[in-house]
Amino acid sequence: MHALPVPENSEVSGSDCAICQCALQGSMKKMPCSHAFHENCLFEWLQVHNTCPCCRCEIESSCPLYNRMNREKISGDVREEAMIPLEAVQHCEKSAV
Ligand SMILES: [Zn+2]
Ligand SMILES: [Zn+2]
Repeated sequence: MHALPVPENSEVSGSDCAICQCALQGSMKKMPCSHAFHENCLFEWLQVHNTCPCCRCEIESSCPLYNRMNREKISGDVREEAMIPLEAVQHCEKSAV
């Protein structure tokens, strides 16, 4: 969170914060995807999400444990998909003929 850069005023002029729908002003933070939000809005958002509210790009949380859990969750999904038994696939192919 604290590592996120503060956007220039010229970058956000005329833009709204996608979290509270209000004009961007005051304390702001910029996501790695270059979307900017109010610092407070983004802080609260990142308590429950680790994605950009605009484009859903994932960011690394400031908590290393959360990052590890998130990575394990993602690799767990991959394992689950790869666990379809070979017999089931062959069975499907036979019944389709
Ligand atoms: Zn806001
Ligand atoms: Zn974004």
